[in-house]
Amino acid sequence: MDPSDRPRRSVLDAPTLVLNRSWVPIHVTIVRRAVGMICRGIASVVDPGSLSLQDFDAWASLRGEPGRHSIRTATRWLPVPEIVQLAQYDRVPSFEAPFTRASLFRRDDHRCQYCGTRPPHSQLTIDHVVPRSRGGRTSWDNCVVACVRCNARKGDRLPGTAGLRLMRNPRAPRWTPHLHVRAADWPGSWNQFLGDRHGQGFATGT
Ligand SMILES: [Zn+2]
Repeated sequence: MDPSDRPRRSVLDAPTLVLNRSWVPIHVTIVRRAVGMICRGIASVVDPGSLSLQDFDAWASLRGEPGRHSIRTATRWLPVPEIVQLAQYDRVPSFEAPFTRASLFRRDDHRCQYCGTRPPHSQLTIDHVVPRSRGGRTSWDNCVVACVRCNARKGDRLPGTAGLRLMRNPRAPRWTPHLHVRAADWPGSWNQFLGDRHGQGFATGT
């Protein structure tokens, strides 16, 4: 198929940043859904320049310039809502991070969870706190980063039996919030809310 035959991505499918009532980015939706939220009074449009909030009536009275930053209605053009703010929502939702080797190293700060050292990566291993041979699972709450020395010392035993003590109880980290949008696709108006997270995929560990 010739690329020029493909349907162009509608402006209604472009991303809209969703802020909570405290101006914290919590989500990315698409323009089509954002417009639905504005119509129902769930969200207001944020003017990226003045940061004033526009409810549906105020937004619908604006006039956009024809082009890719506007939505065409039956009678005229409306500016695309690039940022909306939820009227009621205060919280910051969190999402459980996928269990991967890289995420585990990040959770444990690349540090042996028994002796606290940070040797080179080649000297770090993943230890099952309850050994697999005793039914220990490969999961956030049973795996920790351990240096080769501590891991060898522990062997097939529980930490206490081996005279080792965990620095903290392992548990799943929460990544808050997580936006599945490439930085290259963000409108410039988002930068003031995303700050130094620009280019980092906007995932912050806690
Ligand atoms: Zn160690």
